[in-house]
Amino acid sequence: MPRDIPTLLHDIFGFTTFRGVQEQVVGRVMAGQPTLAIMPTGAGKSLCYQLPAVALDGCCVVVSPLIALMHDQLRAATAVGIRAASLTSVDADWRETQDRLRNGELDLLYVAPERASGEGFRNLLRSAKVALFAIDEAHCVSEWGHDFRPDYRLLRPLLDEFPDVPRLALTATADAHTRKDILVQLGIPEDGLIISGFDRPNIRYAVHPRDGLTRQLADLLAANPGPGVVYAPTRAATEKLAETLGRGGRAVRAYHAGMDPAQRAANQAAFIASEDMVMVATVAFGMGIDKPDVRFVAHAGLPKSIEGYYQESGRAGRDGEPAVAHLFWGAEDFARARQRIMELEPARQQGERARIAALGALVETATCRRAILLRHFGEDPSPTCGNCDNCLTPPASVDATETARKYLSAVYRTGQSFGAGHIEAVLSGAVTDKIRERGHDRISVYAIVDGDETALLRPVSRALLVRDALETTEHGGLMLGPNARPILRGEEEVRILVPPRRERKKRNARNG
Ligand code: ADP
Ligand code: ZN
Repeated sequence: MPRDIPTLLHDIFGFTTFRGVQEQVVGRVMAGQPTLAIMPTGAGKSLCYQLPAVALDGCCVVVSPLIALMHDQLRAATAVGIRAASLTSVDADWRETQDRLRNGELDLLYVAPERASGEGFRNLLRSAKVALFAIDEAHCVSEWGHDFRPDYRLLRPLLDEFPDVPRLALTATADAHTRKDILVQLGIPEDGLIISGFDRPNIRYAVHPRDGLTRQLADLLAANPGPGVVYAPTRAATEKLAETLGRGGRAVRAYHAGMDPAQRAANQAAFIASEDMVMVATVAFGMGIDKPDVRFVAHAGLPKSIEGYYQESGRAGRDGEPAVAHLFWGAEDFARARQRIMELEPARQQGERARIAALGALVETATCRRAILLRHFGEDPSPTCGNCDNCLTPPASVDATETARKYLSAVYRTGQSFGAGHIEAVLSGAVTDKIRERGHDRISVYAIVDGDETALLRPVSRALLVRDALETTEHGGLMLGPNARPILRGEEEVRILVPPRRERKKRNARNG
């Protein structure tokens, strides 16, 4: 590596050493080798192209999917004296930026993929010296990725027009399949793949079924005094939760893309400056925000994918100090996610189904959560980590196959249109008007569950929904899903985690 790299690392960025694979990636870029760097959030991806951008003669073109993200990076780069600019719809200084580029006065130029792939931009680059193409959030190029952007596909002709300019693709989130696709799509050979370890040993993972979410979150806030982020599924939910949780005395604010921009910016600034604030946000919050001392991240609902979960929870504990990540989920999250899949074009459905199934495995497992996450990213972790809920308090599991078969039969025999409440009522032999009117007290599955088994009904329905043995109708009723058959035939076992004691007590009280 040229001598001046360590000097630049220190003098411009203020770091004494590289972290992890940074040195390897920067080395490859300086040597002109095409590279795909997979580095988890917080691993320091930006340095991998910003440092070569300064060291190399010419300008580094950075393709990035979000204007907000570009401008954050731009501000940070300019602050340390890097000559940087962006060409986006909200920039007013286009002419000046183009002149600076042609005159060799820019180290970094940020553009969106739709701009980068256009003819006008290509013309501009022909009249300038390009030192490096950096493609940020490179998983967007793959249909297998969780965030496919068709415009990323149009980058290839641009890259190929400048065959001597090295290309560096960067992403935090790519499973083996997506990785391969990125390499192919961007024309990077397989030996250009650099993967940094994904483990974040200081983050303690825990997963809970939702059971009084507001109380669960309030307990979490009480146990975790430092700055925290609560991810909520909708804009409305962020505001409502922020208000409810704020009544507990803690400083709580909301953040989502639909807010008044001034208010949103103020909330973000307050959070970054604070030592104990809780931000209730949609996933729009966090990208490009550098707050190293976030002590907890909670998800109030199921994330979109394992990648998404890893990235969002990874915003906790970037300073390396202990932090926690809590995920609260409900069976209805799975039902809703599957319903959304039905609306997608058929070509994308399979990938989405696999994503939901992977999330199902994470929330349902009685084994190490970290091992599941790391295996998803192609690592071969030790089977226990000692720092997740299941490793710290191994849950008991029971064989609920018989109950699951009774449940599926009841759904089938009542005509596949009733909700969980009615199915439970039928199985446990309740006497309700609905049951009498429909004659459901005269079918073979009526009152075939009693005693302790009753407490298994709710977790069993959850488990069946998670593994797609049950699906929801458009009216919210239950029907058999594609994976019901092997269970009904006795070919597949259904093990469920023994419900936590509190939940069991309450349910018994209700049923008794
Ligand atoms: P990513 O984009 O991979 O999530 P960033 O580029 O935002 O990560 O960097 C994450 C944090 O790590 C930033 O605060 C950055 O200043 C810091 N950082 C990056 N490289 C180093 C290094 N070599 N030594 C110390 N801190 C670093
Ligand atoms: Zn573990």
